[in-house]
Amino acid sequence: MISMLDDKDRIFTNLYGMGDRSLRGAMKRGAWDGTAGLIRKGADWIIQEVKDSGLRGRGGAGFPTGLKWSFMPKESDGRPSYLVINADESEPGTCKDREIMRHDPHTLIEGALLAGFAMGAHVGHIYIRGEFIREREALQAAIDEAYEAGLLGPDAAGSGWDFDLFVSHGAGAYICGEETALIESLEGKKGMPRMKPPFPAGAGLYGCPTTVNNVESIAVVPTILRRGGSWFASIGRPNNTGTKLFAISGHVNNPCVVEEAMSIPLKELIDRHCGGIRGGWKNLKAVIPGGSSVPLLPAEIAEEAIMDFDWLREQRSGLGTAAVIVMDQSTDVIKAIWRLAKFYKYESCGQCTPCREGTGWMMRVMDRLVRGEAEVEEIDMLLDVSKQVEGHTICALGDAAAWPIQGLIRHFRDEIEDRIKARKSGRVSAVAAE
Ligand code: SF4
Repeated sequence: MISMLDDKDRIFTNLYGMGDRSLRGAMKRGAWDGTAGLIRKGADWIIQEVKDSGLRGRGGAGFPTGLKWSFMPKESDGRPSYLVINADESEPGTCKDREIMRHDPHTLIEGALLAGFAMGAHVGHIYIRGEFIREREALQAAIDEAYEAGLLGPDAAGSGWDFDLFVSHGAGAYICGEETALIESLEGKKGMPRMKPPFPAGAGLYGCPTTVNNVESIAVVPTILRRGGSWFASIGRPNNTGTKLFAISGHVNNPCVVEEAMSIPLKELIDRHCGGIRGGWKNLKAVIPGGSSVPLLPAEIAEEAIMDFDWLREQRSGLGTAAVIVMDQSTDVIKAIWRLAKFYKYESCGQCTPCREGTGWMMRVMDRLVRGEAEVEEIDMLLDVSKQVEGHTICALGDAAAWPIQGLIRHFRDEIEDRIKARKSGRVSAVAAE
């Protein structure tokens, strides 16, 4: 059994903005403590510590962060290397990185310097979603403070490493959270995903070696290096280590963002931090455990859920961004998934046929399923089409559109069939999609 996170192990100690977010306040909480000393230990040491910590990317895919850094070239062939931080945070239900940026921005800025040095980058870019206006202001103010204090710029923090950090903001397209679309957008082009390979570590921003990391992945690095990779690895389960920000929304008594131990049982997470499910656990219908793109879990599985990458993948769902969306018995779950289908259809960039056509097709069938105006056989046809979209597209948006529908059919097929039959028999008034 995984124990709750001790206060002494919290990385984000100003997550709720109760303290001073300025450089002075951040330093009092331990930020920028001995940064130059960490850098003097060398890039290999930093990468090894991050590998030893077991840190997996916090943006959704869960790829090992240290390993990702090690893909960057050790020697430059004349091209500069870039660190790009993905602060686009557009996944519905996800609102964790914004808390870091507006209340604890120096964790991210110090992390950017350390990560930039480890991968041989003298320049970092933070790409923040356009809607995050206050977060961008807070971040920029913190960066300005860091420059004034000599923590960024030439000989950053007295480390001998020159490092500049820039903030750019998007214009609200979900797809710009995909790393290659983000790079395109940073370059001033339309945010459309690139074919891979080449991967960004080979040819990313301006055709140069680039690593794109999520905000939380970078912001935890200073503490990992100060306390040691083995400390981070001691929290959670093997292969699922460290602390994690969870964003819990929906039908709980107290929705919140909270830092907890990876692998915490969902029940404990919700009871301890959210005051339980609205109307109690018996009133739970389903949970989307990791942001809108992962398949939902019905109550009986959710009650047993362990919140980590491996356990949720074994249930054919995923930890994703750890944005937990709770739905109680009052939820029309078909309509909830229809709404997501509509979102993905809207956000498809239209580059590849299965996604461009498939998301619209799936949404239109879902549209009818919500009202029960379909044939039972269409459920399998929808499932079949979702599988033709999944894995057949340039980027993961195709999967993100397919998985919620697959989860719905897997766990709530009876409810879909009931609605179709009810409509045919005139037994109940079906819910209209709006
Ligand atoms: Fe664009 Fe969708 Fe293809 Fe991604 S999967 S590149 S969003 S059309």
